[in-house]
Amino acid sequence: MTPEQILDQCRELVARPLGAVAERWKAAHPGGRAVAAYPVWAPAELIHAAGMLPLSLLGGGTSVELTHADARFQSFVCSIAKSTLELGFQDIVKGIDGFVFSNICDVARNLSSIYHRNFPDVFVEYLHLPQNSTSPGVAGYAASELRRLTQGFEGAFGLKVTEPALAKSIETYNALRARVRALYAFRIAEPQRLSTTDLYVTLRAATLAPPEDAIGWLDDLLAGLRLRDARPRDRLRVVVEGAFCEQPPLGLLEVLEEAGCYVVEDDLMLGWRWFTADVAGDGDPFERLGAAYVNQAVPSSVRHEGREHRSTGLIEKVRRANAQAVVFMPAKFCEPALFDYVLMKQGLERAGIPHMIVEFEEKMWTFERTRNEIETFVESMLFD
Ligand code: SF4
Repeated sequence: MTPEQILDQCRELVARPLGAVAERWKAAHPGGRAVAAYPVWAPAELIHAAGMLPLSLLGGGTSVELTHADARFQSFVCSIAKSTLELGFQDIVKGIDGFVFSNICDVARNLSSIYHRNFPDVFVEYLHLPQNSTSPGVAGYAASELRRLTQGFEGAFGLKVTEPALAKSIETYNALRARVRALYAFRIAEPQRLSTTDLYVTLRAATLAPPEDAIGWLDDLLAGLRLRDARPRDRLRVVVEGAFCEQPPLGLLEVLEEAGCYVVEDDLMLGWRWFTADVAGDGDPFERLGAAYVNQAVPSSVRHEGREHRSTGLIEKVRRANAQAVVFMPAKFCEPALFDYVLMKQGLERAGIPHMIVEFEEKMWTFERTRNEIETFVESMLFD
């Protein structure tokens, strides 16, 4: 398949209601189960090792009108939490057998219990992932949380996660993440051949399919992109930071690129490419996954990293991607992103790296003011 055909297929998959994605897979796998994971990181390997289909749960985007969820949350709460709940009320996730949330923020914590209370018949689990990265017991603790999740699967669905099955799933997801890292590296080298909207749609589609299938199309895409004809343009190379949970509307990413940016790094869909390198291959797979969560994690506002300043990881990202500036893109009311914004901004200023901020909501329709702001920022940098 050509890159254009693969991208069309990805767009079509991303546009499909989440429950329909699950039902289609289940029709081909009678008796199968599908479990969806809320951002940021969730152990898709465990869901896969239980023989189920792991899916990303990313809210309703622009497609869902809030009719019930607004009444269950305060008005000052991010859109993804409300629209994720709304998916349940409108039966858009019918066909999904379970949901996994984790302690990324107070909103996600409440969402998990509100979901459970409103939909008592579906499996809902809340993972208490470790926040302390310096204690010697932390990797073991993470492994015990992962084991607890598998016990939940066994209790709810009668599906056991054996160590050999988990080891195999870790291998499969290592292979998938290696392809994603290769695509990200390709975009750093040749952003004119791979736009961020295309990369984002591809990655999002990969979280809605069995990983074995996604690996095949990512390989084909990378091979095809190398042959794509595209001339480099005079654009500002930027890192997008802050969109690790609620995902910006596609229209906003398009505007960013049209306004003169090459996005060469970002934190979109971060949980699905959480590890900086492969999860280790030897030893107890629960321990390996737990240790990787703590020691091989990409820098993120939703995991406390006591070993270095908040801006260090971002500055490294800027240097590694040979970027010229940072565009902070936090979701409106996203506390982890907005708290870190202050610290990261200070770090960038000390390092002399220019930045701007663009807040977004899932249901953002008009981008003209944002386009003007980005164009002004780009021009001030390119024609200084
Ligand atoms: S968008 Fe931010 S505040 Fe909302 S659930 Fe995600 S991390 Fe929490």
